[in-house]
Amino acid sequence: ETFSSLTQNWIKGHPIWAAMILGSGAVFASEIIWSGIKYVRDKFRIAKNHVLAVLVFNEKSVICADKHKINRNYQCSNKYCKEKHLRILVNLIDRAEYSIDIAMYTVTIFAITDALKHAIARGLNVRLIYDKEMMVCSGSQIEILDKHGVQVRAPANTATALMHHKFCVLDSSSRIKELTGKQQTNNSRSILVSGSANWTQQAFSGNWENTVIYADKAVIACFQNEFDRIWKSL
Ligand SMILES: [Zn+2]
Repeated sequence: ETFSSLTQNWIKGHPIWAAMILGSGAVFASEIIWSGIKYVRDKFRIAKNHVLAVLVFNEKSVICADKHKINRNYQCSNKYCKEKHLRILVNLIDRAEYSIDIAMYTVTIFAITDALKHAIARGLNVRLIYDKEMMVCSGSQIEILDKHGVQVRAPANTATALMHHKFCVLDSSSRIKELTGKQQTNNSRSILVSGSANWTQQAFSGNWENTVIYADKAVIACFQNEFDRIWKSL
């Protein structure tokens, strides 16, 4: 007897078992095909994912503040948490390797100042364009940053116009090329942080604000170009 005739005889003798085995085989095969589709789809989605994070600030951003004060390593589940958002920004500054260009109405957050000081110590090129009116504002970190090696420039005061940007470009490919002469083959380093929030205590502590973190090459290039244009004009 051949294997196939043995199989046929077994199927005839056990029709219900045969149906169950064939059925589960089909389910198993379709599971494999489906997980293959999901794998490819997720890969594609990651490749297209040009927004890395959306940080939302609102009246709930400081409800967990006391818990963070008591325990520095508090694992917070508040998705609007000021401390978590701030840590994300500090981590972005900490992971930068070449350049940080900031155009910001004003900066008053000590943790950001510290992270920028560390960046200078690591040898990064850090530039800041700010609004002159805000330089004298209480808590302004601009003078301190200037003293620690951050290059700072501000447009001249005018009656009506504000330097109102709130963005930061980290390790953009054009800037890396300018600073090192090297063409980046891998653009995954480049990051843009932009939104409504200044890097101030006020913005992070109950204001309704947004900060979006982008990895999109074209968007990053637009912001870097505008930063360079303003910088050269000052
Ligand atoms: Zn929290």
